[in-house]
Amino acid sequence: TPADGDTQKENNIRCLTTSGHFGFECLPNQLVTRSIRQGFTFNILCVGETGIGKSTLIDTLFNTNLKDNKSSHFYSSVGLRIQTYELQESSVQLKLTVVETVGYGDQMNKEASHQPIVDYIDAQFEAYLHEELKIQRSLSEYHDSRVHVCLYFISPTGHSLKSLDLLTMKNLDSKVNIIPLIAKADTVSKNDIQMFKRKIMSELISNGIRIYQFPTDDETTAQTNSSVNGLLPFAVVGSTDVVKVGKRMVRGRHYPWGVLQVENENHCDFIKLRDMLLCTNMENLKEKTHTQHYECYRYQKLQKMGFTDVGPDNQPVSFQEIFQAKRQEFYDQCQREEEELKQKFVQQVKEKEATFKAAEKELQDKLEHLKVIQQEEIKKLEGEKKQLEGEIIDFYKVKAASEALQTQLSASAKKD
Ligand code: GDP
Repeated sequence: TPADGDTQKENNIRCLTTSGHFGFECLPNQLVTRSIRQGFTFNILCVGETGIGKSTLIDTLFNTNLKDNKSSHFYSSVGLRIQTYELQESSVQLKLTVVETVGYGDQMNKEASHQPIVDYIDAQFEAYLHEELKIQRSLSEYHDSRVHVCLYFISPTGHSLKSLDLLTMKNLDSKVNIIPLIAKADTVSKNDIQMFKRKIMSELISNGIRIYQFPTDDETTAQTNSSVNGLLPFAVVGSTDVVKVGKRMVRGRHYPWGVLQVENENHCDFIKLRDMLLCTNMENLKEKTHTQHYECYRYQKLQKMGFTDVGPDNQPVSFQEIFQAKRQEFYDQCQREEEELKQKFVQQVKEKEATFKAAEKELQDKLEHLKVIQQEEIKKLEGEKKQLEGEIIDFYKVKAASEALQTQLSASAKKD
């Protein structure tokens, strides 16, 4: 102010303007520098039928050629293909993990198609929880593999969602941020796309499926995000081909009747998806994964393991108390199991003893029976022996008598 200026002149004080920032005004800069040094990770899960355009869209999104061999339609169950890429855009490094379903929608029985996907998401949460509960943690170096977003590819039937879509999304919505996409949107007319979008949204709502909503609580992005929420599901087209339109080379798909430009907002929602996913809301997707989906998994898991924040009397319980209670519970259970095992062992010994006794008795009876038979046999043989002996005596008697007679006869013959 002029008055201040006068005072400065009077006191001969020089007024300098500051060059650059100082004080805690610089805090955001520190964060930016650190984030750039550390690099970023982002994990995308693509769920959709074989050949629906998952790999092509990822290539189009990241302007790369990550695509590998074509998937077959003949897998007996749903699998996952996990690939991690290190990408760089100016000085920003991004460790991107793309998980794609393989064989999804190709089986006759599609009831369990969502299970491998759910298991994969849970396994990443479990790995993070494991790291978090370690005594020596290194979360800053830990490669966080939790899925930050699930791009769900809907077939461009123009009609309605399939039961497989509803079942899978229902099973995933509490574990991951789902962004539904109408794949190969160039195969459906503009009017049909609008009707299809409305139909899909009403089906999702009536089946109680929660999809990711772009956040509207931050005033810098609220307006864009709320208008884009109204565009869901995004009608996307993927292509890695570059086509000539006038004097420009654009990414698009060339048809006999014209060119579909992937990056033209009048042709499809690809640009909206890319902006929302990579430029505006990637951090929110990651934050929501951590604070909502992972938190829910962690809560359920720790509760199952017996951890609690308050006891039955609504008083806070310390970790030490829980640990001791758990240890006591474990000790009691071991005792119970040991007692049960002992009882079982005694019972089995008793049973074995009884069977041995029964077998012994049976043998004894058999022996007695054999003895009786043997006695009878001996008796019989003795009778026969006696009889034979009698016969032998008789024989000798007869023999002696005949010999005597013969001697008499020969003596009388000599006399004559
Ligand atoms: P994935 O098995 O789901 O990974 O499918 P691919 O990305 O390998 O795509 C299968 C076929 O569909 C390829 O021939 C692609 O050129 C084609 N394709 C991919 N995206 C689109 C699209 O948006 N529109 C049309 N019409 N075809 C597409």
